[in-house]
Amino acid sequence: MTYYYFLAATLGLCFGSFANVVIIRMGKGESIVFPASRCPKCRHALKWRHNIPVFSFIALRGRCGFCGEKISPMYPIIEIMTTFLFCVALYKLGATYFAVFAALTLFLLLCLAVIDLQTTTAPDSLNFLALTYALFSSGAILDSLSSALLIAGALSLLRMGLSSLLKKEAMGEADIILGATMGAFLGLLGALIALFIASLIAIIPALINRKNARLETPFIPFLAFGTLAVFIFGDQLKYLWR
Ligand SMILES: [Zn+2]
Repeated sequence: MTYYYFLAATLGLCFGSFANVVIIRMGKGESIVFPASRCPKCRHALKWRHNIPVFSFIALRGRCGFCGEKISPMYPIIEIMTTFLFCVALYKLGATYFAVFAALTLFLLLCLAVIDLQTTTAPDSLNFLALTYALFSSGAILDSLSSALLIAGALSLLRMGLSSLLKKEAMGEADIILGATMGAFLGLLGALIALFIASLIAIIPALINRKNARLETPFIPFLAFGTLAVFIFGDQLKYLWR
């Protein structure tokens, strides 16, 4: 099992590095394949030794190897978070194909959450990819599919109701797709608990944002957090719920 954790951690670091690319480029609508990674300040293309997850950041003391510009600590943080998510998937589901799909689902949820935080948008391509992986992560694809449809349907109704009540667009379509992913990933009860947790925590920043009548609050980070909480502590949370 130690071997599998080593594998999960190594893959987690690599996917974490990839997550940074996805977050930055998809947030701006750029290609995620070309060009090679560059320093955002001096535009110097990075060498492989500047590109090793977490370790390069430590070795370069958080600065660009060419111009000395400070590099955002977001990079290593995302890499460490992805590593954690991959190890959690292995811990919860063992060395199975389901764990691989669960790890990929969680990886995409992290990307979506950070993109939403930074741009208050969510690329449909990532969102539907997450839904696809989630469907394969449970081992009971028909159950997952029906939970996904039920949650998406319930959220769509809620959205129509809220939108006519508030006379403005409540919730985004992206939130509904993500709701479907949560249904597929956690099952019906699990997804309901995750939605409950997400709404409970999201109330605080929503109230703050309401006061200064500013931007809409990104909701995906809360949905992703609720999903992770139920994925890890699902049994305990379901027990509490009952
Ligand atoms: Zn530079």
